[in-house]
Amino acid sequence: MAGAYSLLPLAMRTRDKIGRIIREEMNAIGAQEFLLPAIQPAEIWQKSGRLEIMGQEMFRLKDRKDADLALGMTHEEVFVSLALEMNSYRELPQLWYQIQTKFRDEPRPKAGVLRTREFTMKDSYSFDIDDAGLDKSFENHRRAYLRIFSRMGLDTIAIDASSGAMGGSGSIEFVIRSEAGEDLVVLCPTGDYAANVEKATSDLAPVEDPPGPSGPEPFDTPGIRTIAALAEFSPDAPPERQIKSLFYVIDGQLTIALVRGDHGLIEQKLVDATGGIDIRPAESDEIFDAMGAHPGSLGAVGIEGMTIVADHALAGRSNMTTGANIDDQHVRGVNVERDIRVTKWVDLREVEAGEACPACGTALDVVKAIEVGHIFKLGRRFAEAFGATVLDNDGKPQTITMGSYGIGLERAMAAVAEAYHDESGLMWPVSVAPYELVVTVIGNDEPTLQRAEELYLAAQEQGIEVILDDRDERPGVKFADAELVGIPYRMVVGPRGLEKGVVEWKTRAGDGADVALEDAIAHAADSIEQAKAALL
Ligand code: ATP
Ligand code: MG
Repeated sequence: MAGAYSLLPLAMRTRDKIGRIIREEMNAIGAQEFLLPAIQPAEIWQKSGRLEIMGQEMFRLKDRKDADLALGMTHEEVFVSLALEMNSYRELPQLWYQIQTKFRDEPRPKAGVLRTREFTMKDSYSFDIDDAGLDKSFENHRRAYLRIFSRMGLDTIAIDASSGAMGGSGSIEFVIRSEAGEDLVVLCPTGDYAANVEKATSDLAPVEDPPGPSGPEPFDTPGIRTIAALAEFSPDAPPERQIKSLFYVIDGQLTIALVRGDHGLIEQKLVDATGGIDIRPAESDEIFDAMGAHPGSLGAVGIEGMTIVADHALAGRSNMTTGANIDDQHVRGVNVERDIRVTKWVDLREVEAGEACPACGTALDVVKAIEVGHIFKLGRRFAEAFGATVLDNDGKPQTITMGSYGIGLERAMAAVAEAYHDESGLMWPVSVAPYELVVTVIGNDEPTLQRAEELYLAAQEQGIEVILDDRDERPGVKFADAELVGIPYRMVVGPRGLEKGVVEWKTRAGDGADVALEDAIAHAADSIEQAKAALL
């Protein structure tokens, strides 16, 4: 079914190696490994207030006693329950992690193991007495993540991100640039700004509004339903001088979101700005019932008693044009602050490539990327909901503050595959390759087979992860398979080379040379060591 995969032996080895790198780096910052249940009582999700927020992404089930259960999609609730065991500030800080299966009923599972409904995550949680402690735990994770990804060969960018359903005060995503990615990332070419488009801002050139009528002025716009059509119809209404009105149902309430006519709206920004839990675009008939007109003729001028959130780019604007809430009519001469009862001014706008960097003014790039890791400062929200306190120095209870940190193992593996392949197959970096070396036997005469097996055993003894290809296949088939699965190094053992006392050494990247038989293992060990060191 969609979003479910079986891992075969080569993928298992790669995923294990990724897990090992993660464990080493987590242990290095003082984290301790746990294993928590994947199957959880719905009660704890009720307690944190996330039972509803998680919506349909949460797999829910009942046990034989009719109790509500959930399959864990993340583990803040269970870990904070364990944190209740701590009593004194002297037990803090703590860093706890696990590598465990998560379940998420993703609306669009796709792109292989990049987005599945069951996947393995390393999730860790920090527990501190104060903000300074949380900052330190967060920074330790940020550095550990950069090391983890660089050891895997991933060239990640750390970007500012929306915290989404986690809440909290800050979050950083680790992404790699890739056409296979589903995230859009806004990057300044100078390197001084990088943010998920869900969070990104830019500096806009101001728009001059020419003087216009003294108040809103309706006019007929027969058949005009889009920003572009109106711009063509009326020379006074280029897109940047129109107001785009978008209707959403947020937690059951019809809400109007306003952006400039030439701007796109980011739904995540609307969620972040309103604190909404359940959000969807309104249906045409819901809108008609409330407004008396259809999409294409809608506007917020004179609307009372409805939540209206407006993008900052509309502040101070005048003589603008928008729908009149009468089909086939618009109004011009709209002064946004005077004529529209804006409930809240927020950032809703989608940044476009070429806009100015908010830090330095350089033209921004917008690129596709894969998110491989995400770290959050959660703050005290979960600890408050669960009553996770410790006694401080003065014997007074203090609510602890938390961080939450995740890496998807299969997604990370897929991201490496996206970054390292050519037309012949995978090109695993040696640190995560299922095997570091393949000993490929040419022919099947007994002395050659025996030599090859000796080399294979000697390599194993050296600690090299080696596989012996002694299948009864043509050399071309063996070479092609080794390239397809991406073994970084190949040692070819054949009768002709053995006569000269050499084996052929070949890298997956295509370099090759003959190496004396007696030097072959040392050469392999050196090459692998150097390649690993280059990834640190
Ligand atoms: P996305 O925005 O891609 O859905 P997310 O923000 O929901 O990701 P987190 O909840 O932060 O992801 O999870 C931490 C990590 O778990 C992600 O960085 C990613 O590596 C991995 N991950 C999340 N969802 C999936 C999934 N459906 N399949 C595989 N890996 C996933
Ligand atoms: Mg998600």
